[in-house]
Amino acid sequence: MTIPTSTRAAVLTAHGEALAMRDVPLPAAIEPGAALVRIACTTLCGTDIEIWSGKMSFPGMLPMILGHEMVGEVVAVGGDTTDALGRSIAVGDRIGWSESTCGECFACTVLREPVACSRRGYGFLQRSDVPPYATAGLVEYCYVTPGAAKLLLPTEVKDTWAAMAGCAAKTVLRAFGRAGPVRPGSRVVVQGSGALGIFATAVARISGAGTVISVGAPADRLTMAQRFGADAAIDIAGGSEATIARVLELTDGQGADLVLDFAGAPSVGPEAVAMTAQRGTIVIVGSTGPVGDPIALGTVMGKELTIVGSLNGDISDYYRAIEFFRAFPERMPWDDLFSEAVGLSSASEKVAAMSRLHEIKAVIDPRLP
Ligand SMILES: [Zn+2]
Ligand SMILES: [Zn+2]
Repeated sequence: MTIPTSTRAAVLTAHGEALAMRDVPLPAAIEPGAALVRIACTTLCGTDIEIWSGKMSFPGMLPMILGHEMVGEVVAVGGDTTDALGRSIAVGDRIGWSESTCGECFACTVLREPVACSRRGYGFLQRSDVPPYATAGLVEYCYVTPGAAKLLLPTEVKDTWAAMAGCAAKTVLRAFGRAGPVRPGSRVVVQGSGALGIFATAVARISGAGTVISVGAPADRLTMAQRFGADAAIDIAGGSEATIARVLELTDGQGADLVLDFAGAPSVGPEAVAMTAQRGTIVIVGSTGPVGDPIALGTVMGKELTIVGSLNGDISDYYRAIEFFRAFPERMPWDDLFSEAVGLSSASEKVAAMSRLHEIKAVIDPRLP
């Protein structure tokens, strides 16, 4: 096949406005270590919606292509292209990838923490009018840079699952890694009932928690959380005090051994501190904004709490997310997280639908008309 020189793309040109269908150029040559991929599936993440609306923005980065959870089939390689495990990548292979890192900065070399790479390249952190143009998910053909950590995907893991592993699932698995082991039979609270919160509920259940409590909204999301392993669900519409009281009631007055924030509302900090048990652990994952309500440091001290942050995920977390789906394909109704796939020209409507919480995870298959 001849290698395409441009791709159709749904481009964000102004925050809050419909995505524009455009033809975007592709790099003239594919560098060694890079690959050109025909996207088979892109799933939308909450971050895509926040960037679209302008709640999260990167000055000077428009026009930009959204989408950072995707998988596809390799249509060209630049030579010496291998995956993160050193396996050679060839035309026709199905791959997914974690964002690119430089391998040279302080975080990459001294800290060995790819998530803190000073030149970390997420799909959307790329203007669509400068090379290499098309590195995000809402495209027909995507340029996967040499620095992006690629992975050949096992056939048992569906496209939608593998796409979700690219951000949502790997973020959750990293958070559990940061928390330390889930003690068998312990009590876990998951704050937030979006895609990450629901997935985290399932992970807590599968990891051996005795009681899993989902805290979130709206009601249909809480019902979904219960289908993914929550023993109880608490609607945050009742307010902080009622939420905390209900958690204490469900945990014999002790609170939860582990509380994970996948919500990011200003109240998550004080609520988490109040509902965590003595010597419990809190993992902050969803608080992307700068402002949170103050937490009671005296309580943190008195209960000897451990509070840790967790930032997205790297290739290690991505690999573990893929293996998690491979290990537990039947344990939860994973497919219920995803909407029916639509073509690229409907991506804009899907972004809007997700912003209204009408869908948990929209699915774009650019091969569809
Ligand atoms: Zn780096
Ligand atoms: Zn994301």
